[in-house]
Amino acid sequence: MLKTPAWAAPSATEPLAPFAIDRREPDAHEVLIDIRYCGVCHSDLHMARDEWGGSRFPLVPGHEIVGKVAQVGSEVTDWKVGDTVGVGCFIDSCRHCAACRDGEEQYCEEGMSLTYNSYERTDGKLDKTRPTWGGYSTRITVDQNYVLRVPESIPLERAAPLLCAGITTYSPLRRHGVKEGDKVAVVGLGGLGHMGVKLAKAMGAHVTVLSHSPGKRDSALELGADEFLVTRDGTVFEEHAGQFDFILDTVSAEHDYNAYLGLLKRGGSMVLVGLPDAQPLSAGSLIRGRRTLSGSLIGGIAETQEMLDFCAEHGVASDVEVIDMAQINKAYERMLKGDVRYRFVIDTATIGNDGQA
Ligand code: NAP
Ligand code: ZN
Ligand code: ZN
Repeated sequence: MLKTPAWAAPSATEPLAPFAIDRREPDAHEVLIDIRYCGVCHSDLHMARDEWGGSRFPLVPGHEIVGKVAQVGSEVTDWKVGDTVGVGCFIDSCRHCAACRDGEEQYCEEGMSLTYNSYERTDGKLDKTRPTWGGYSTRITVDQNYVLRVPESIPLERAAPLLCAGITTYSPLRRHGVKEGDKVAVVGLGGLGHMGVKLAKAMGAHVTVLSHSPGKRDSALELGADEFLVTRDGTVFEEHAGQFDFILDTVSAEHDYNAYLGLLKRGGSMVLVGLPDAQPLSAGSLIRGRRTLSGSLIGGIAETQEMLDFCAEHGVASDVEVIDMAQINKAYERMLKGDVRYRFVIDTATIGNDGQA
């Protein structure tokens, strides 16, 4: 075993602190990755504070991992030492259910092995004796089939958030066929939202940001948004009723879905990717205008690779603020206040060999 420094939440109510974990020497099919950067997703905060239930402590968050291959197993063919790679929200899945066969491992019928707060697999089955630990650490051992190639043209720290924020927004935009000239609204301009804006623009859409933060106007336009509307006073919902083909909702806190559905054109679709607590939904919000409401969970391995290549081709990368590991608890507070442009990324070199930052 490789003793590896990390940072963990000791419980739902305590700040993150240094913690040591074991990583494996890679077996025949695995690669060992030296983690260089790890993005800070709002899901990390939800999980570290047990806001969804089911968190197990200590919990090492982090699923926007980029780094370099440090070692490969004897039967690894696709990767070599020094390759620039990424790991996203899951590190394994059953590999034989319909979803896995379709390359949609995130919907694995037996449950994917999440990158943290989950279990690795033994003989294909989730093994409760083998917990997973996330990317707030200096290395990770992963099966070769669950590793992504990060194009060299994307600055590494700006590539990290693509592994969750990027794919989570890319997948529904693609699945709904967003194209040149479509009117798209992105609700919530945070880590996911800012990627939604960049990706929808790169697909040719006319993009409007719907935000509850008036102070984000200038930077939204700099990101490429065509319009910026503040949702706080509520008049937006009357003035822009029935205008959008597609709405991508990335908001992490409770809000009224019915109001946003009213902004869709006849036959339009709204996709939820933000994960606040359950919200009341009125049937009339959908029935009037034959609107569709659906959800979307990250993306499969093949689609994540497609997204990374799309980003390289279109010059898309995340806007980041690189932090030292020891700043993580402050970063969580700032993220809650919406005070991040637009993703914190941990420089894992600041973790230190003993786990002390
Ligand atoms: P984030 O960076 O904190 O951004 C969330 C944004 O939501 C904020 O920037 C803010 O945008 C808006 N918001 C926050 N509080 C609000 C409030 N009280 N009322 C209205 N809007 C508010 O978070 P993130 O990392 O992008 O994650 C967003 C959500 O997606 C989280 O719930 C996360 O767990 C979830 N998620 C889902 C998936 C998936 O696969 N579906 C993957 C990753 C993350 P404005 O200031 O512009 O209003
Ligand atoms: Zn995430
Ligand atoms: Zn499966």
